Amino acid sequence: MREDVDRIVIREHELAERVTAMAREIAAGYPDSAEGITIVTVLAGSLVFLSDLIRRLPLKMRIGLITVSSYAGRTTLSNGAALASSFLPDLRNRHVLIVDDILETGGTLRLVQSQIRAAGPRSVKTAVLLRKTAKAPTDLPVEFIGFDIEDLFVVGYGLDYDGLYRNLPYIAVLRPELYRTGAEP
Ligand code: 5GP
Ligand code: MG
Repeated sequence: MREDVDRIVIREHELAERVTAMAREIAAGYPDSAEGITIVTVLAGSLVFLSDLIRRLPLKMRIGLITVSSYAGRTTLSNGAALASSFLPDLRNRHVLIVDDILETGGTLRLVQSQIRAAGPRSVKTAVLLRKTAKAPTDLPVEFIGFDIEDLFVVGYGLDYDGLYRNLPYIAVLRPELYRTGAEP
C-alpha cells in the first residue's frame, strides 16, 4: 500500500496536533454545554477524523451518521452530491455539529446542512478536516477548519481512492499513474 504513495501532504503528528486544537476550538464554541451536542458525521471519509476528534471533546454527545454519494468508484471527479442514507437521532432543538472530511466545491455540505436545518435544530455548526481553498465557496458557513490544502486528490486518514487507502495514518497523494480521471473512457 505505502509503495503507492507519491508524497505525504500532512504527517501523523501534524494531524494529531491540529485535531487536538480543533477539539479545543469546538469545545469553546459550546460554553453552555450541559445538554451536550449532536454530531452528524458524513460517512465514510470522516470516520478516522471523527474517532480522533470525539475522544478529545469533553462534551456530552450523541452521534448520527449520514451517507452522501459524490465520488463514485474509480474517479477523482465530483458527480454532484446526493443523500444516500442516514441514521440520525432526533435533531429538534439540539445543538448539531456536522463533521466532514473535506470541503471541495461545497455540494456535499450544502446538501447536508439543508437536511439538518429542516429537522429543526437549535443550532448548526460545521467542522471539516480539510478545505481545498481553490474550489471552496465563500458563502457556505464552516466554523471549524483543520487545514487548507492545494487542489490535489488526497487519500488517507479516512479518505479513499476507489475504496482503498483509508487506513493510511497520514494524508497523502498517490503516484499519478494510479489515478484515472472520470473523463477517460
Ligand atoms: P464537495 O461536495 O465539497 O465538492 O466534495 C466533498 C466530498 O468529495 C468530500 O466529502 C469527499 O468525500 C470527496 N472529496 C473531495 N475531495 C477529495 C479528495 O481530495 N480526496 C478524497 N478521497 N475525497 C475527496
Ligand atoms: Mg465525503
